[in-house]
Amino acid sequence: MTDRPLGFDTLAIHAGTAPDPATGARQVPIYQTTAYVFKDAEHAARLFNLQEVGYIYSRLTNPTVSALANRVAALEGGAGAIACSSGHAAQIMALFPLMGPGKNVVASTRLYGGTITQFSQTIKRFGWSAKFVDTDDLNAVEAAIDDNTRALFCETIANPGGYITDIPALARIATLKGIPLIVDNTTATPWLCKPIEMGATLVVHSATKYLTGNGTVTGGIVVDSGQFDWSASDKFPSLSQPEPAYHGLTFHPTLGGMAFTFHSIAVGLRDLGMTMNPQGAHYTLMGIETLALRMARHVENAQIVAEWLEQDSRIEAVTYAGLKSSPWHKRAESIVPKGAGALFTFAVKGGYQACVKLVDSLQLFSHVANLGDTRSLIIHPASTTHRQLEEDAQIRAGAAPNVVRVSIGIEDVRDIIADLDQALTKATA
Ligand SMILES: *Cc1c(COP(=O)(O)O)cnc(C)c1O
Repeated sequence: MTDRPLGFDTLAIHAGTAPDPATGARQVPIYQTTAYVFKDAEHAARLFNLQEVGYIYSRLTNPTVSALANRVAALEGGAGAIACSSGHAAQIMALFPLMGPGKNVVASTRLYGGTITQFSQTIKRFGWSAKFVDTDDLNAVEAAIDDNTRALFCETIANPGGYITDIPALARIATLKGIPLIVDNTTATPWLCKPIEMGATLVVHSATKYLTGNGTVTGGIVVDSGQFDWSASDKFPSLSQPEPAYHGLTFHPTLGGMAFTFHSIAVGLRDLGMTMNPQGAHYTLMGIETLALRMARHVENAQIVAEWLEQDSRIEAVTYAGLKSSPWHKRAESIVPKGAGALFTFAVKGGYQACVKLVDSLQLFSHVANLGDTRSLIIHPASTTHRQLEEDAQIRAGAAPNVVRVSIGIEDVRDIIADLDQALTKATA
């Protein structure tokens, strides 16, 4: 081997894993165990003191789950990572070492619907809050960050609406204000975009989506760049000062670039327990082996389908940043140059009724509340995920009554188009 760093496709198969030291098993074994036998009392003490890295109890760490976390850390170019029980768990785990009662996160208005709910409602129970801003208005972003702000949060490719976030611009503001930028990279994956290279501190994933890739797992990941100076201000006492929840250990001065990761394991996973299970980690490791191949096909198919829809007279509009008509087309070329993801919306002539008919007439597409599957998926937000909202709120969320959202799969693209074609004929008859 040369000194050249390993390529993405190689890391996706090899990073974080070696043949099993006990058996030589080539594939990562599913370590279906709760606990690990200590060599002796001295070994146990060293593990609990974090003087030696090893396994204690699977709520904290497990070899299969660690292999997954380390593989995603390698793909994202981070120093460390933890795996969690879901994407939503990963978001709480990303905020947990940073926040406290009275502290806030400044978040993009363009986020996954579940994240809007988590941030606007549920985190208030912890005394945390979120301020939502249009991340295309950089002055508004800067103005929203106050003395109690502990993070800036956005998604690389936000749905619906085919929006692409200017990650480097947000990273510059975060750096200026001395807070970390957290990027939800679920819909892009590290194959399309590496937020850490653009200045992000933390990257979160719903591994439920493209990382696993086939709709079998609920999981999440938090990757830390290892670059943020948690001790530069007094804003992050859990990391920079003695942590009472871990017998006064000062994580950042002691552990440097691994401070966030170790805090997340030793305090976050220990006390919140949002742990990924080894079986789920195994499926996600299998999925990641083919991430590059799948993402290439996902974006190729999405581009073809979006172009086909845009020229079709039954369609009013298509919001895909891969199209020249998109206001975010230029930005997509620098943030996601290999393709603008495989998730977009389109508006159908005939409104709400035509959309419902379309969804019911499709045969290859599955009508589900999910994305990032090998299969093509569709949902009509106005009759499902966004049905609680008034019509003007639906329109603002990019989920007007005449809009459907698709997650384009990796089937033969001619079959995807044929299915849309026959269903659109029925829907707009
Ligand atoms: C699905 C999703 C989440 C939540 O992940 P779960 O695994 O469902 O908890 C968060 N962000 C984005 C962008 C998602 O697509």
